[in-house]
Parts: sequence; structure tokens; C-alpha cells
Amino acid sequence: MSKSKPGCPICKKPVDPQYKPFCSARCADADLGRWFSGAYAVPGEPVPPEALPPEARGDEEGGDQH
Ligand SMILES: [Zn+2]
Repeated sequence: MSKSKPGCPICKKPVDPQYKPFCSARCADADLGRWFSGAYAVPGEPVPPEALPPEARGDEEGGDQH
């Protein structure tokens, strides 16, 4: 028994040597995006509600709640 090709870490498809260790540019990109979002998601200060745009806060006033 031998370990055959590991496959793309994203979608498990056969790896394309051109995009090693991924199967395609798309998956390589997806991994990169993941990596970046992980880097950006620094644990620390929570975002205060004031920093969010009004639409993200929900309907505080002037909605269609009647
Ligand atoms: Zn893939």
C-alpha cells in the first residue's frame, strides 16, 4: 500500500502540477483567501456597534416595524 497523490486540500481533486499543491488556480486562490482572512481576524478588540454602518445594526428607527 502506498500513499497516492494527496489531492487538492480544498476540493480533494487530483493535483495539477502547475498549481501544486492545488488542483487549479481557483483552489489556490481560495486557500490564499482563507489564509488572509485568518490573518486579518486578529483576536482582540471587538468592533463597537457605532463602527458599523446603520444597515448592519438593524432597524433602530424609521423601519417598517409598526
Ligand atoms: Zn481543488
